[in-house]
Amino acid sequence: MYRTHTCGELRKEHIGTTVTLAGWVQTVRKFGSITFIDLRDRYGITQLLFGEELNKALTENPFGREFVLQVKGLVSERTSKNPNIPTGDIEIKVESFTILNKSVTPPFTIQDDTDGGDDLRMKFRYLDLRRNAVKRNLELRYAVNRAARNYLHEHQFMDIETPFLIKSTPEGARDFVVPSRMNPGQFYALPQSPQTFKQLLMVSGYDRYYQVVKCFRDEDLRADRQPEFTQIDCEMSFVEQEDILHMFEGMIKYIFKAVKNIDYTEKVERTTWEQAMWEYGNDKPDIRFGMKLANLKSAFQRGGKITAHGELINGAGFGVFDNAESVLAIAVPGCSEYTRKQTDELTEWVKRPQIGMQGLVFIKYNTDGTLKSSVDKFYNEEKLKAIAAAAGAVPGDLVLILAGREERTRKATSELRLEMGRRLGLRKENEFRLLWVMDFPLFEYAEEDNRWVARHHPFTSPKPSDISIMIDNNPVIEHAEKYLEHPYSNIKANAYDMVLNGNEIGGGSIRIYQRELQEKMFAALGMSQEEALHKFGFLLGAFEYGAPPHGGIAFGFDRLCAILGGSESIRDFIAFPKNNSGRDVMLDAPSTIDDKQLDELAIALKGGDHE
Ligand code: ASP
Repeated sequence: MYRTHTCGELRKEHIGTTVTLAGWVQTVRKFGSITFIDLRDRYGITQLLFGEELNKALTENPFGREFVLQVKGLVSERTSKNPNIPTGDIEIKVESFTILNKSVTPPFTIQDDTDGGDDLRMKFRYLDLRRNAVKRNLELRYAVNRAARNYLHEHQFMDIETPFLIKSTPEGARDFVVPSRMNPGQFYALPQSPQTFKQLLMVSGYDRYYQVVKCFRDEDLRADRQPEFTQIDCEMSFVEQEDILHMFEGMIKYIFKAVKNIDYTEKVERTTWEQAMWEYGNDKPDIRFGMKLANLKSAFQRGGKITAHGELINGAGFGVFDNAESVLAIAVPGCSEYTRKQTDELTEWVKRPQIGMQGLVFIKYNTDGTLKSSVDKFYNEEKLKAIAAAAGAVPGDLVLILAGREERTRKATSELRLEMGRRLGLRKENEFRLLWVMDFPLFEYAEEDNRWVARHHPFTSPKPSDISIMIDNNPVIEHAEKYLEHPYSNIKANAYDMVLNGNEIGGGSIRIYQRELQEKMFAALGMSQEEALHKFGFLLGAFEYGAPPHGGIAFGFDRLCAILGGSESIRDFIAFPKNNSGRDVMLDAPSTIDDKQLDELAIALKGGDHE
């Protein structure tokens, strides 16, 4: 038997027993003729004491960090206890030991505060995984996985695997493709999600499906994305939107309880996409704090109109406001005493290329009721007061105002709001606030191709009340610059996102389940009939054999884990992640393949310089 106990198991009550442990050498500390070793395994650390009588054996069999050691000895009470670890009351008086394997010196220390940089830890990920911090993340991931499965199982969901080698139908992100040796010149694609399969399973009658499943998207890796990531993918039949929302807020609450022991008893708040954009400038608002956007003059909102506040700021001779398409403000609580240095720094912040604004206007609404602003020249105090009031400010607040083109200003103000929330400590790591964002537009306008694209995916159903707008109108966009006036831009989808602390953690929709409407959808997206049949004939065909009404949702499992673990990065929660350029630096993948393999696959590389 290699071990009788783990390195995290022994306590006071074991004192006097003889045990065998096995694990890795974390540290070696010599004090004269005795040696202390910290032995580590997945479960913890136990201190070993090698007395004088073992000195000879130690000299003959020296070992160092990360050696794999087996020891037999007596559990004894420690003279100096370590209250920081569960095994801190005891140590093992070693009677005999065996070196099970050697280790070269690790490239970084396997400790909580490691000296290893990111790249090095990625290259030696199997060593990084020995560290507590990473191990805790994987444990949390497993706990989330288990909780989700338990909940779904309790609710009659069935885990059904779907294939990874499928057909390429790019719409949305790019596909990863896999050449087929047996079918030269032909390729499989890796699924961006099991979307069509789960819908087919509904047609087959498996009315509650789920899968914790890998998805593959060949996207440019924006911050914190992975080319392969995991979803908790779900689908249900005979449901309306309300049933889905209810089922899956239940799942998230269950996970909160199981993983974080949080009783999320509050009702999950809901907002529409339009309202979220209006109030937060963002379709995944962080509602842990207020500081909502005030539209001082805005054309945003479908069918856009200037708000009543427009008259406050227009025509004062301040060109930045007078000529702007949009002027948006936030009232930052308790910051009226910001110094010049602080407001200058904020101005620099909004000018950064990622934010891209020309400048920042501020009004300090002092606690004594007086006002001071960077635009005193153009607005008298009474006007400033009215503007501050329109921004929702009270004495003591700092009003920050951005102006410019609609979309950029909205994005920038949304970012500024998040930044101020962060600076004021309003985005608390251990506070969790869920929000459903609903009623997304069905279509988005793609300027490059002057056509409509599906905002969620092409299988999403319009709201029943909007189906006729889709049927009755021609999708062709005659005047690109007036696409907002096209009836299609008003069609809302039965689609919903679940947002947690400003992150989209899940998204789904009620699906189209009639062939005619699905065909109409493909046509609206600019697909010819042949193209639709070529790409999605299987689904259109299936819809003719009694497809039930259905809908579903998929959660970003990696992201959910990262948020619950209080981290910004999903990489920390994936055992073997890729780096920001999509490379696995440990495997050194992707890599070239040899000519023999290429020949077998009937593939010739362009340029021939692949070596
Ligand atoms: N398959 C969708 C996605 O990956 C989610 C869904 O609609 O269920 O975003």
